[in-house]
Amino acid sequence: MKHIVEEREKNIRRLVMIVDDEPINRSLLGFIVREHYDVITAENGKDAYEMIARNKRNLSLILLDIIMPVMDGYELLSKLHEDPVLKKIPVIVLTSEKSAEVKSLGLGAVDFIPKPYDMPDVILARISRAIELAEDRAVLNAAETDALTGLYIREFFFIHVSRFNVFAPDMLMDAVVVNVNKLHIVNELMGREYGDAVLRAIADKMKEIAEKTEGIACRCDGDTFFLYISHQNAETYSAWFDEITAAANGLTGSARITIRIGVYQNVDGKADAEQAFDRATVACKTLHNKYGAKYAFYDMDMREKEIYDERLLGDMNDALEQGQFKVYYQPKYNISGDRPKLVSAEALVRWIHPELGFVSPASFISLFEKNGLIGKLDRYVWKEAARREREWKEKYGVTVPVSVNVSRMDIYDPDLENTLMGIVKENGLDPHEFYLEITESAYTENSEQIIKKVSGLREKGFVVEMDDFGSGYSSLNMLAALPIDVLKLDMRFIRNICESEKDYRLVKLMIDIANLMSIPTIAEGVETEEQLRLLKEGGCEVVQGYYFSRPLPAAEFEETIKKGFDL
Ligand code: C2E
Ligand code: CA
Ligand code: CA
Repeated sequence: MKHIVEEREKNIRRLVMIVDDEPINRSLLGFIVREHYDVITAENGKDAYEMIARNKRNLSLILLDIIMPVMDGYELLSKLHEDPVLKKIPVIVLTSEKSAEVKSLGLGAVDFIPKPYDMPDVILARISRAIELAEDRAVLNAAETDALTGLYIREFFFIHVSRFNVFAPDMLMDAVVVNVNKLHIVNELMGREYGDAVLRAIADKMKEIAEKTEGIACRCDGDTFFLYISHQNAETYSAWFDEITAAANGLTGSARITIRIGVYQNVDGKADAEQAFDRATVACKTLHNKYGAKYAFYDMDMREKEIYDERLLGDMNDALEQGQFKVYYQPKYNISGDRPKLVSAEALVRWIHPELGFVSPASFISLFEKNGLIGKLDRYVWKEAARREREWKEKYGVTVPVSVNVSRMDIYDPDLENTLMGIVKENGLDPHEFYLEITESAYTENSEQIIKKVSGLREKGFVVEMDDFGSGYSSLNMLAALPIDVLKLDMRFIRNICESEKDYRLVKLMIDIANLMSIPTIAEGVETEEQLRLLKEGGCEVVQGYYFSRPLPAAEFEETIKKGFDL
């Protein structure tokens, strides 16, 4: 493949840009240059900059006038120089003034063409030389390949893909993502060298596949490989899955290393290559935790989900303003006495969309987390929950502490403590009456920073519940080091405690260890009387789940309060 690209490269028509505000200059120069190059034009620095950014991968040279309206040539030169990619595109300045030549050189121009344009051969020679020099330099300077595997790195991979598309726009291609599952765990358990050997073994397989299919391969980042290859059928992908898995495990013979393959088929050569790989990545991610599945093709369902997600993201701000988000409350009961006692409630957000109807948090929480919108929604929910808590306090004279979910993104907000303090104060609450649920996986992600942040919140008086405990990687012996007040067991353990002795023993063990440290446990997702009985016997203090109540709108939850306190 590389060989083919190089062969063709000698004859490739390169793209040259002419930037000049005078139409006559653009046509004159265009007339000379067009014979050997593809040409695009712009009439000021600002337009030019936008076009350059769009064409950065295939633009070979810029011919730049200095005196122009809106943004002149000097300003454009400086802007290009600030950008690590754009500054590699050679610029020849069009001018007749000596002083301008010197200044442009200082700003990174490589050569000049004097006006008027009366010697076409000289002009073409200068252009050709500037392009050659720049390309030679790129080859010399750039580490096109990854030192560990010898495959292309991401940046060069996409350059080759777009060149390939220029030569063969009608060829049916597949964008393929190969991901090594949990490489960090492999590194941790078996050592980094072993992890490297696995990656090299997979890379060799990638090279073999790329050669067979006239394709290109790269290692995109740590544990991910990309292939851009001629279109293949499902059996081929299935066979490759087996081959790659075998190669990855060849070192020990055991099947420890697993991989995932995501494919976006029949890529349109004229479309954006990076988008094709984004889609292959989407397909690849659907295989997360799906054992037995070897590969996934990007399909209409995923496309629809993408469109649906975009819709939700686009509608979010209006929804907030229009009050489409409702906060529901699910009661938590203390079960250690004779009679279950209402002790608090979890605030859970609901989206009542005017056109889509009820949208489950499962479809928007992680989406908002990924796109940085969750902070805004969470703040809304916290305010709303605190306001209700005060309302009930005033109305009924009882405190029902509400727990709110704090997303891992919130933790990184330097203003978190102030925001929360502001909200409780505004509502005349004490931080002791406001609980924060922080998911376990947040702790493992960046332990030190989180531990510091959470300790600060606890010092202020907030009660911190560790949510979803047991779902992540943190172990029971980490509990002692973590600043928490309550342990909330992950729902998945509760689900099977009646059927699975092992699950029950695990839950019992977690409760015992927490009790040893005087940390009370909450079990959530409790649906049956039998589960409740086992948890009570096991020493679990608080229970939340459909057995007692589903999450309720504020007005209905008020009835629960009245009943709970015999009001
Ligand atoms: P979570 O924090 O683990 O919340 C508990 C989830 O379990 C809720 O789902 C609740 O409705 C559900 N649940 C409660 N009892 C039972 C039961 O007996 N059986 C079953 N099968 N499920 C039960 P929901 O409301 O759909 O929320 C899903 C997740 O979305 C929550 O999981 C939480 O991580 C997130 N979430 C919800 N509201 C917010 C919010 O305001 N902010 C943030 N950051 N996340 C939220
Ligand atoms: Ca929660
Ligand atoms: Ca939970």
